[in-house]
Amino acid sequence: MGQYVAPIRDMQFVLHEFLNVTDEFKQLPKYQEIDADIINQVLEEGAKFTQEVLFPLNHSGDREGCHFDPATKTVTTPKGFKEAYKQYVEGGWAALACEPEYGGQGLPVSLNNSFYEMLNSSNQAWSMYPGLSHGAYECLMEHGTEEQKRLYLPKLATGEWTGTMCLTEAHCGTDLGMLRSKAEPQADGSYLISGSKIFISAGEHDMSENIVHLVLARLPDAPEGSKGISLFLVPKFLPTADGALGERNGIFCGAIEEKMGIHGNSTCQMNLDGARGTLIGQPHKGLQAMFVFMNAARLGVGMQSLGLTEVAYQNALAYAKDRIQMRSLSGPKAPDKPADPIIVHPDVRRMLLTAKAYAEGARAFTSYVALQIDRELNHPDEAVRKEAADEVALLTPIIKAFITDNGWIATSEAMQVYGGHGYIAEWGMEQYVRDARINMIYEGTNTVQSLDLLGRKILMDNGAKLRKFGEKIKGFVEENGLDESLSEFVTPLGELGEKVSKLTMEIGMKAFQNPDEVGAAAVPYLRVVGHLVYSYFFAQMAKIALAKQDSGDRFYEAKLATARFYFARLYPETAMLIRQARSGASNLLALDVELF
Ligand SMILES: Cc1cc2nc3c(=O)[nH]c(=O)nc-3n(C[C@H](O)[C@H](O)[C@H](O)COP(=O)(O)OP(=O)(O)OC[C@H]3O[C@@H](n4cnc5c(N)ncnc54)[C@H](O)[C@@H]3O)c2cc1C
Repeated sequence: MGQYVAPIRDMQFVLHEFLNVTDEFKQLPKYQEIDADIINQVLEEGAKFTQEVLFPLNHSGDREGCHFDPATKTVTTPKGFKEAYKQYVEGGWAALACEPEYGGQGLPVSLNNSFYEMLNSSNQAWSMYPGLSHGAYECLMEHGTEEQKRLYLPKLATGEWTGTMCLTEAHCGTDLGMLRSKAEPQADGSYLISGSKIFISAGEHDMSENIVHLVLARLPDAPEGSKGISLFLVPKFLPTADGALGERNGIFCGAIEEKMGIHGNSTCQMNLDGARGTLIGQPHKGLQAMFVFMNAARLGVGMQSLGLTEVAYQNALAYAKDRIQMRSLSGPKAPDKPADPIIVHPDVRRMLLTAKAYAEGARAFTSYVALQIDRELNHPDEAVRKEAADEVALLTPIIKAFITDNGWIATSEAMQVYGGHGYIAEWGMEQYVRDARINMIYEGTNTVQSLDLLGRKILMDNGAKLRKFGEKIKGFVEENGLDESLSEFVTPLGELGEKVSKLTMEIGMKAFQNPDEVGAAAVPYLRVVGHLVYSYFFAQMAKIALAKQDSGDRFYEAKLATARFYFARLYPETAMLIRQARSGASNLLALDVELF
């Protein structure tokens, strides 16, 4: 079913030429030994695993889906998923970016990130099982007690056990302050947790022997709202003191959802009936602890849409070269055939280039942020760590929302390249569109991400984080502004930077008068800032490509053409978005609810 070849050259371009990661790693004591050979070897082995093991299960997993047995309350994943997971664990893939202390390989997040792209291109539904485990691992690393770390981290690091995040309840998804699950303290320091969670990804399955649920619930004395939520570790099987599987815990799957996409991933209703758990972090500070998981997951969701954008592009490209239909407007390009391949038509190229540009922009963006995470976690200088952390905080909602919105656009355009065949399941393209749609919804809807960006990350700190990032952009513009060969990239970048500053101030002023102005502007605002980020990265990549365009390697020609397409065809929507963001709240709020 279709094809997937991991874009190793593109990944190497981003890691080695755009980000110079090995130089960066020299600054991070933990990663000083990591050279280009190690990186390339991981990429090549990762490509083999994802292309040969996971990709062949993508379409069949979608057709078959997961099966729930109400009698045993167990879930069976599609044929081949379990065996592929065994290979993944045995190959040490789960442990790539985990700490050696817990059995991990201690490789950088920025390298793991490229592997995540491959996982998601080859099979998003499957990749969610280990993806969630990694979030649980990170949350326990930061907030777990020594005992929790000792018992759970080695199993999560190797992938022997998987993880979940249990936040959502039927009456609350965005507004977690309303959640009702309860935790009763016990004399031995543990808690008995009761409640019902819905939509829990990978909540029950047959791929690992144990599942580590991270559950939000309320203590008896909890204040109302989001300040009264605590986080608990609730395993499916309670481990014995030496880490072996013990008693079955009172957390069971009640049903799985039928849904639009990611059929191979079980979306579970989880019932907790006096399930035994232990507290993670401080009482009532559960949301703060869970944010570690949620932030990791938000980056992960961006990676899901990057993966889908890439694989949809690759398949649409192959189809566009093969499918013949009509003649080119400027005369036959394949006179030996009854018609020209559709790739000759300008609008087919627009669709392909849209997906290509969104894949390349997202790859640069996510790799950049992953490198900032490596710096945040490992740089010896505290000031550098703080600066990196601020950037990661600022850019995370943009990764989640901008990349997933673009993933929806890109997979839809790639499907359109197939004409009617794109709509037919056999070709596999409609699956990418269906799978991509959830990425805009879960982990906080894209609207919620835009409110987080504009409200919390920008206006609440008086624009300090954005200004810091803007200074980097300004520095690049000043450094390259006089270079005529770069002006087609640098000029629009500089202009957009100024427009974003003005727009931010304008919305900030209006928000003083009326807080609804933030909600009215947030979605187009995030998209404008997303384009500012992409303009910055495309301009830098174009600079590298220009310097190497005479090298004889046509790869750089393609890079330049994609950057030119980006500035000519995708960037211009910022003009419309700025008008929308400036149009204010009144056009949205004037209509009386009765009149809708
Ligand atoms: C397939 C799937 C897998 C999932 N996996 C998990 C999982 O593993 N763990 C987990 O805990 N949850 C999971 N979820 C739940 C998911 O995170 C929530 O569905 C999501 O956060 C939205 O919550 P909701 O569905 O309750 O929508 P609601 O919160 O009811 O939102 C409805 C609409 O109102 C909008 N809205 C809400 N508040 C505002 C506001 N202040 N301003 C503007 N608009 C607003 C939202 O953007 C949305 O468009 C999953 C969901 C699905 C479908």
